[in-house]
Amino acid sequence: MGIRKRARALVLTILSLTRNPNTTQLESCMNCMDPCLKVFEKLILVIGPVCVLLVMLGVSFVVYTMYCYIVPILQKRHPIIFFSEVLYGHWLLVNVVFHYYKGVMTKPGSPLPAQRIDESLLEDGWSICKKCDQPRPARAHHCRLCGVCVLKMDHHCPWLNNCVGHYNHRHFMLFIIYIWQAVLFVMCTSGNYALSVMVGSRSLAHWLLSETPFRFILALFATNPELHTRTIGEVTMVMLLFFICFGVWIGLTILGGWHLYLISNAETSIEWNDNRIMSMEFSRRGKVFVNPYNYGLKNNWKLFLGLVHNRNIFRHVLLPSGHPPAGSGSNWKLGYLVKAPEPVQPRQGYQTTTDNNGKVFPV
Ligand SMILES: [Zn+2]
Ligand SMILES: [Zn+2]
Repeated sequence: MGIRKRARALVLTILSLTRNPNTTQLESCMNCMDPCLKVFEKLILVIGPVCVLLVMLGVSFVVYTMYCYIVPILQKRHPIIFFSEVLYGHWLLVNVVFHYYKGVMTKPGSPLPAQRIDESLLEDGWSICKKCDQPRPARAHHCRLCGVCVLKMDHHCPWLNNCVGHYNHRHFMLFIIYIWQAVLFVMCTSGNYALSVMVGSRSLAHWLLSETPFRFILALFATNPELHTRTIGEVTMVMLLFFICFGVWIGLTILGGWHLYLISNAETSIEWNDNRIMSMEFSRRGKVFVNPYNYGLKNNWKLFLGLVHNRNIFRHVLLPSGHPPAGSGSNWKLGYLVKAPEPVQPRQGYQTTTDNNGKVFPV
């Protein structure tokens, strides 16, 4: 093809995308971005294993630095405080490792072939996937990276190198919650050391001890980093630890806060966007859109954490637990699992009354 023909084809392509009366501007933009998205998706597939390796190296670095440099400083604290810190730190570490492992290794779940194919499937929210050409239940979406439909798909996570869906969503969220706490714990325990290096010879804890009314409480926690000799290697490692944790903690706060909001409203990341569009469409028609999977804050969390069938927070959330989520991921009418059944109204004819002569007859 000559250069002139190529140029004409390019102009026609641009015009068909921008002046086509059958497509909206948003669709045109999405079409233009499609090649970029494909390159981005390929990149995520390639960097997925690298991200998993980075997480493992990051956690190993934090654990190593804590044991080598921070624990010896913490040992100088009150024995009860030191013991509590060691217990809390190890509880967080066990949960972080467990939920990360389960998040990476657990398949999010794909739709099973429909038992029946008729109109009742549409009533249950089923649809046909354009890519797989197969029926899929409500809340399932096609992941272009994995090449399959995923039950209750939230997003494809490069840090897990896995899709986040029905069967591993809980592990993903608990991993974020536990690692957020762990990073905060590391910052608090190494903060005094890092600040004393930055501020100078006088540590923050010392200033607080001598200047504020909290000195009696802080006396339990305070350590004086000046009491032991610092080496260049130690200072470098602790400062690196503190600043890496600070950056990661900011990112985790934003990511975790967003997912806490979504789960509280029984929405996935994909549904959040769809529901906003539906809300606008409903309000344009003078109606109010109601998310059919929202059973209220408490019930949404009970269903999300799988706290049904007599499971409890202590055993199934605070301790590592690999229990399956509530429901099969194909049927989302789960209200019966968390809400008490409606009281049965007495049927008319079963209630009786007595007249003045003692004769009994139904009301
Ligand atoms: Zn599909
Ligand atoms: Zn995926």
